Amino acid sequence: MDSIAVVGAGTMGRGIATAAALSGYKVILHDVADRLLEDALAGIHHVLETGVNRGKINEEVANQETRGITASTIIDVAADVDLVIEAVPEQPQLKQELFAKLGALAPRNTILASNTSSLSINALAGSTNRPDQIVGLHFFNLAHIMALVEVVRGDDTSAVTMSAVDHFVHTLGKTAVHCRDTPAFIVNRVARPFYGEALRLLGETAADVPTIDRLVRSLGFRMGPFELIDLVGSDVNLEVTTSVYNQFYHDAKYRPHPIQKRMVANGRLGRKSGRGFYDYRDDSK
Ligand code: NAD
Repeated sequence: MDSIAVVGAGTMGRGIATAAALSGYKVILHDVADRLLEDALAGIHHVLETGVNRGKINEEVANQETRGITASTIIDVAADVDLVIEAVPEQPQLKQELFAKLGALAPRNTILASNTSSLSINALAGSTNRPDQIVGLHFFNLAHIMALVEVVRGDDTSAVTMSAVDHFVHTLGKTAVHCRDTPAFIVNRVARPFYGEALRLLGETAADVPTIDRLVRSLGFRMGPFELIDLVGSDVNLEVTTSVYNQFYHDAKYRPHPIQKRMVANGRLGRKSGRGFYDYRDDSK
C-alpha cells in the first residue's frame, strides 16, 4: 500500500491522516467543504509544530508529512487509492451510503475500512460490491499517538484483507487487536459502563464532576470519565452509547443519560466547542 485516503476530516480523520503521513504514506483527506479541509490541515500543522517544539518530531520529517497530505472535496479522488479509511459521524445510513458510493468508484483492489466505534462491519459490507475487502480499523483518540487499533473482521472479510491491514497498522508503529463484528467491539463496549455509571452518579448528585474524575484518576486511569467525554466529543460519545444501547435491544446497562443528551442539545460538546463538563474557553483546564 502506498496511498491512502481518509474520508471525514474531523477529530479522528485528521489524527489518522497524521499517523499515516508520519509513516510515509501519501494521504488524501476528503470532506464535504473546503473550509472543513482547511481547518483540518491547519489542525494537523499545529499538531506537527507542537511535536517539533517538544522535540518529539524532527522538523524535516514534519515538513515532509505536511507535504504528504493533500485535501480534496471530490470523492472520486479519495476513492482512487489502495486503502480508504472512513471517519464520518457514527450514523448507520450515512456510512452505508458512503460505502456504496466508494465501492462503485474505487478500483477493484482498494480496501474500504471504517473507523466506526460501534456499528456493524457486516452492514457496511452489505452495501458494497466487495464484502471481502471491507474491514473495521478502529483508531483511538488521539489517533497519531494512541498505540491500539482494533481490526474488525466482518463475516466476509478475506484473510488477504486482514493481512494487508495488519501490515498497514504495523507500519504505523501501532498494535492491531483482532475483534469479531459485535456491537462496539471490545474497547467501547467495556467503556460504556465507565461513562454511564459516572453519569448516573452525577445524576443522583452523589458527587460532582471534578470529584468523580479525581477519584477515577486516583485508581490509576489517565483521565476521568468526564474529561474523556470532553476529549471524545459529547455528541460522538452519545451517538456511540445510543448505538450500543439499540444494538443490545435496550439493555439497561447501556442506557444513555438525560444529562448528556441535554448538554449535546445545548451545544456543550466538550473541548471542540469550548465547553462541556469543563470550560475550555479560557484554557482553564
Ligand atoms: P467528527 O464529527 O469530529 O468528524 C466527522 C467529519 O466527517 C466532519 O468533518 C464532517 O464534515 C465529515 N463528514 C460528514 N459527512 C461526510 C460525508 N458524506 N463525506 C465526507 N465527510 C463527511 O467525528 P469524529 O469524532 O472524527 O468521529 C468519526 C468516526 O470515528 C465516528 O464513527 C466515531 O464513532 C469514530 N471514533 C471517534 C472517536 C473520538 O474520540 N471522537 C474515537 C474513535 C472512533
